[in-house]
Amino acid sequence: MSGACKGPVPGNRSFSLTRVPGFFLAMVLVAGNAFSATLTVYSSRKTHLIQPVLDKFTKETGIKVNLITDKAQPLIAKIKAEGKKTKADLLITVDAGNLWYAGKEGILAPVKSKFLETNIPPYLRDPGGLWFGLSVRARTIAYNTKKVKPEDLKDYESLAESSWKKRLCLRTSKKVYNQSLVAMLIAEHGEKRTSEIVKGWVDNLATSVFSSDTKVLEAVAAGQCDLGVVNTYYFGRLKRKRPDIPVKLYWPNQNSSGVHINVSGAGIPVYAPDPAKSLKLLEWLSGTSAQDLIANLNMEYPANKDIPVAPEVAAWGRFKESQMNLSKAGELQGAAVRLMDRVGYQ
Ligand code: FE
Repeated sequence: MSGACKGPVPGNRSFSLTRVPGFFLAMVLVAGNAFSATLTVYSSRKTHLIQPVLDKFTKETGIKVNLITDKAQPLIAKIKAEGKKTKADLLITVDAGNLWYAGKEGILAPVKSKFLETNIPPYLRDPGGLWFGLSVRARTIAYNTKKVKPEDLKDYESLAESSWKKRLCLRTSKKVYNQSLVAMLIAEHGEKRTSEIVKGWVDNLATSVFSSDTKVLEAVAAGQCDLGVVNTYYFGRLKRKRPDIPVKLYWPNQNSSGVHINVSGAGIPVYAPDPAKSLKLLEWLSGTSAQDLIANLNMEYPANKDIPVAPEVAAWGRFKESQMNLSKAGELQGAAVRLMDRVGYQ
């Protein structure tokens, strides 16, 4: 394990040992270590999806974690504004688009760690080591089993065909999940072909776009539309509540690029107060003890491929996932937003 993070020297806390009488020095050092054994995590994940993971880290290492939650953009802005005074030891957020943006804003330090590089495959992390994926979500097709035969489905691209006219439901293009999906299509097909595909989706909409994946799934279940594009864990959540809904997942692009995936992930802020401890937490999050918990809490897939998928998630079936580097989702996010705007995807 090795870390190459910019920032202050590890363990450099503000109290001064020079004012302490000699014979108290050893005691203060012990107390100082205990005092500094707290990490602050800025996270955009829902508290119930991350707190149990951090609690497990504390239990195993004795390092306490102070969790601060907000949406991704405000957290990134906060770290930027705090600069050298930030308390953030780690930034956790969802979507490669957000992680890439944090990197672009210059708030994340490059990390070199054999441990992380072994645990997390290259396409699920930033090529420069600014962020590492921790869990994988697939953005796939969900269809109403009474209205769609799975053999009529093929890939994201063919959802643009006229046979799906007035049958498709989509979440708003304002959501970063769709921006990343379209960015990855641009990476694969270029802007011209992707414009045709996304325009085709818009032409096939059964109704106006929805504000959430869950609403898309409910519309599919209710027969308001025949199929939609959603993240798998929203399907898992709805199925837990309503096991009888006539909705199934379909894995597209199995003979081509693979299913579009995305990550939740983390990076170490440039001015993290204690980079060595930040790295310890980040590495721990990629390891055996954390990975199945991180994935299972939200019915996602572990980013570490040595960790088995939870039985409930495994029941959805195996699939080939896209292995295009997810940093493309960030690099092409602006192009994706403009493209969706041009073709009228609201
Ligand atoms: Fe989500």
